[in-house]
Amino acid sequence: MTTTDGLTDMVRSFVAAAVRPAAEDLDATERFPAEIYARMGELGLFGITVPEADGGSGGSVADYVTVMEELAYGYASVADQCGLVELVASLLAGFGTPKQKKTYLPGLLAGTERCAYALTEPQAGSDLGALSTNARRDGDGWVLNGEKIFIHNAPVADFAMVLAVTDPARRKRGGMSMFLVDSSLPGVRQAYHEKKMGQRASQVGGFVFTDVRLPADALLGGEGEGFGAVMSVLEKGRLGIAALANGICRAALDTAREHALSRQQFGKPIAQFQAVAFSLADMATDHAAARQLIEHGADLLDRGVDAGSVCSMAKLFASEASIRTTSRAVQILGGSGFIRGVEAERLYRDARITTIYEGTSEVQRMIISRALLR
Ligand SMILES: Cc1cc2nc3c(=O)[nH]c(=O)nc-3n(C[C@H](O)[C@H](O)[C@H](O)COP(=O)(O)OP(=O)(O)OC[C@H]3O[C@@H](n4cnc5c(N)ncnc54)[C@H](O)[C@@H]3O)c2cc1C
Repeated sequence: MTTTDGLTDMVRSFVAAAVRPAAEDLDATERFPAEIYARMGELGLFGITVPEADGGSGGSVADYVTVMEELAYGYASVADQCGLVELVASLLAGFGTPKQKKTYLPGLLAGTERCAYALTEPQAGSDLGALSTNARRDGDGWVLNGEKIFIHNAPVADFAMVLAVTDPARRKRGGMSMFLVDSSLPGVRQAYHEKKMGQRASQVGGFVFTDVRLPADALLGGEGEGFGAVMSVLEKGRLGIAALANGICRAALDTAREHALSRQQFGKPIAQFQAVAFSLADMATDHAAARQLIEHGADLLDRGVDAGSVCSMAKLFASEASIRTTSRAVQILGGSGFIRGVEAERLYRDARITTIYEGTSEVQRMIISRALLR
């Protein structure tokens, strides 16, 4: 991978040319931008921390969060696809057999094969211990049954990484396993396509699994290692979403600043009114503070130091900051900030999910407070 400065410049010019100009149309049409993802594959923007030996870019977590912020500055759905592939590819690289890696990684990293990461269920959101999707042994293989909801890429996925209960008595303590499930298998139904408030080019839906027969080598890692696998990428995933939220913050700041400098009321640019200037100052402070927490978390993860609490702080702060800054941007834009097709209006909607997915703000506060009170 190139230096962080070289990487930032490369992603920035890709985003300026191909992502930002497409964002309003993708939001309006909810289209899956396959051409953008194929180009990202060519640029090495999928699997940033995946080792080069496995076909990834061999970069650091610091590189990964840099890419996520830059992509989200252009359009959050595009960053979210990068984050999803990063998690699935990291798990394949970390836990996959040579055959599993050979089957799934090349197309995934090229941006031509589509994956999903399926944990959430109707009765198991924040509480993954309540999963009911289950796999039971059947000869050499497995039989999978259950339902997953709110899964990014579910309507378009070629395969899904699915967390299922394999030992109901042990659940999170060695009773959950991860399976690689091809969408074309009999009994797999890609259930529906949700209509969402924001990040509308992200295709989100559900899976229903009815007596899906899986071969023995559909199991990723060992039996009972599924929950541990989820935990192994949790902090990187949260930091990625923090960086995504901070890319939204920066886009909100830039569009609000530009408007404040050009919009004239009472004979001068509205930026000259202290109320507006101070609001911009608060937005810039939120963005800079989030950046510091994210970089701190990335540095800890890159050095292999305990980063749980800091990554949760980064996710909590950056996601809530993205809601504050996009709301300020709408206010500074005035009536135009409420109109479809205006960037501030889309950013306000795109930011809203960041305090919910990849662990809600309340879950992040639970983790931070537990560490404090331990
Ligand atoms: C657009 C989108 C994309 C998604 N992508 C994926 C995906 O790709 N894969 C996937 O597996 N999932 C995905 N999800 C699901 C997402 O991770 C969950 O929505 C999230 O974890 C919250 O779960 P829930 O919606 O069931 O809310 P719940 O867990 O029911 O929570 C509802 C509220 O209760 C609060 N709460 C819950 N427990 C506690 C507690 N102990 N203390 C205090 N407050 C609590 C929560 O913070 C929240 O405010 C996605 C969701 C959306 C909307």
